[in-house]
Amino acid sequence: MWNELFDFFVGASFAYVVIRLPFMMFPRMRSWNDQFSAHPSPIALDPHLIQRVLHMRMFFWSGLFFASLPLFLGWASLKYGGAAMGFGLWVVSGWTVISRIMCVIGDDGPPWTKQLAMRLQKVRNDSQSEDSCCEHSLPVWEVTAVRCSTCRKVLLAESRPDLGRPRSDGWIKGIIRLLITDGRPIAAPLGEEE
Ligand SMILES: [Zn+2]
Repeated sequence: MWNELFDFFVGASFAYVVIRLPFMMFPRMRSWNDQFSAHPSPIALDPHLIQRVLHMRMFFWSGLFFASLPLFLGWASLKYGGAAMGFGLWVVSGWTVISRIMCVIGDDGPPWTKQLAMRLQKVRNDSQSEDSCCEHSLPVWEVTAVRCSTCRKVLLAESRPDLGRPRSDGWIKGIIRLLITDGRPIAAPLGEEE
C-alpha cells in the first residue's frame, strides 16, 4: 500500500516537474540575461523585455510537448508492471495538458500572452511619443506595475510575472516558488492612479 502510494507520488511529481522544465530552466541561463537587470530589481521596458515575454509564452506552451515524456513513461509503466507510478504519471500529465488546453477558452491562461506584449509595446510607444508622461520618460516594470522611473507615474497596472531571470531567492527556493506559482505574479497590481 505505502509502496504504491510512494510510486504514485514519484510518478506524479516527475510529470509535474518535467512539464514545467522549459520555463524554469531555459530562460535562466546567464548569457540569456545579460541585457536585463538582476532579479528582483525593476526591468527596463525595452524590445528585449517584450521579446522575453513572448519567449516565456513559448516556453510555457512547449510544456505540452514535454508532457509527451511522462505520458510515454506512464504508458510504459502501466504496460510493464509499475501501475501506481504509471497512473501518477498519467494523472498529472493528462490533467496538465487538459487544463492548459482549456485555459485557451477561459481566462485562466499563463501570465505571458501576446496581448501583454502588445500592451507593453504600447506603453513603450507612448513613452517615446508626444503624449509621454514626462520629458525623460523611462518605463520600468516593477513588481506591481510598469512605472516611469523619472516621474514615478504608473503607466500600466500589471503585476510582473516571472521573466526568466535567475532568481534572487536562490536556486532551490526559486524553483519551489516557480513550481507553486507557475510563474504568475504574487503581488496584486497597483491601481492606474495613485
Ligand atoms: Zn515620466
